[in-house]
Amino acid sequence: MGLAECVSHVLAEAITADRDLPPFNRATMDGICISYAAFKSGRREFIIDGVQAAGQPVIECSDSSHCIEIMTGAMIPEIFDTVIRYEDITIADGRATINIEEIAASQSVHRKGIDATKGIVLLDVGTVITSADVAIIASVGKSSVKVFDMGTVAVVSTGDELVAIDQTPEPWQIRRSNDIAILAGLKEINVTAKLFHVRDNKETLHDELSAILEKHNIVILSGGVSKGKFDYIPDALTNLGIVKQFHQVQQRPGKPFWFGRNRNKTVFALPGNPVSTYLCFNKYVRPWLLKGFGVAAKSRTALLATDFQFKPNLTYFLQVTIETVNGVVWAKPCEGEGSGDFANLRNANGFIELPSERNQFSKGEAFNFIPFRQ
Ligand code: AMP
Ligand code: MG
Repeated sequence: MGLAECVSHVLAEAITADRDLPPFNRATMDGICISYAAFKSGRREFIIDGVQAAGQPVIECSDSSHCIEIMTGAMIPEIFDTVIRYEDITIADGRATINIEEIAASQSVHRKGIDATKGIVLLDVGTVITSADVAIIASVGKSSVKVFDMGTVAVVSTGDELVAIDQTPEPWQIRRSNDIAILAGLKEINVTAKLFHVRDNKETLHDELSAILEKHNIVILSGGVSKGKFDYIPDALTNLGIVKQFHQVQQRPGKPFWFGRNRNKTVFALPGNPVSTYLCFNKYVRPWLLKGFGVAAKSRTALLATDFQFKPNLTYFLQVTIETVNGVVWAKPCEGEGSGDFANLRNANGFIELPSERNQFSKGEAFNFIPFRQ
């Protein structure tokens, strides 16, 4: 992939230094370069043998009691080791006089190989490429890099009540939003996907899902996995050879989550309630994809800002707003009206994960935090 496009993608090859960094002793100031030994032995006046600009082959110098004028970024001749900036010298009649009494050996010199030596790994496989990394990749002479490709991903919404975004829904219909939210979440990690919609129809579902599975190796569905009369997804997937790994997770929201795979297909069938879909995507699908790129999930915690009670014996993903006070991240509950209330997500910064073994949670306790908004 070209360097201009690769930012945020995950490196699939290590980037090594093709030469020392910097590749030569370079001046970091405009001024003169001298031999420190000459200065130390008492010399203050130096004959100027030439002017060294950046981007020019190095001037041949043989007398270490002389100097040359040198510009920032220029290569320093072998026999010199120290740079004195113009501010600290006077130049007259082809000679430079140093006007200060204290200089340090090697000052204002960026030494060859000090940043990295040739052959060293600068960026590892699995690095999520930043714009700074792009500079590093360019500096070793690569105009394109290998990045991970997750293969082909399908996002499938299910449900007869759902209409396209640009349609005017009848009073009993709603607009599809889960699928596009998943697509957007995938885009954040540079995974491209195709969108599909299937009806709650047992007969057509089998063929439609079969066609989708044929062309995609990761399928993320929303809806149709609960106990409703028209929730045909788990059976349809099983009939298509996707082996159930689990159905239902002891959590809220997102309890009906179904997950299955076979030799080369992985299927996440997320419950359709928008908050469930959104939570399950961020809690399970996104970290799974990132792990496939070799990127370890970052664990974050936040402190509960008020006492909180949750009775059912389920892990509870509580929507919270975040406030950082003196570096401490406080999570204030903002529950909303349950897993159908996706409008409440606009008030929340993320979820905190309250474990199932208890039902009382105290102010100041730390819990796993799943952010989705800065
Ligand atoms: P289900 O899991 O199919 O029983 O759906 C649960 C609820 O989520 C229903 O109210 C659906 O209308 C809603 N829902 C399912 N899929 C979507 C979607 N793609 N966009 C918005 N809401 C959805
Ligand atoms: Mg449904």
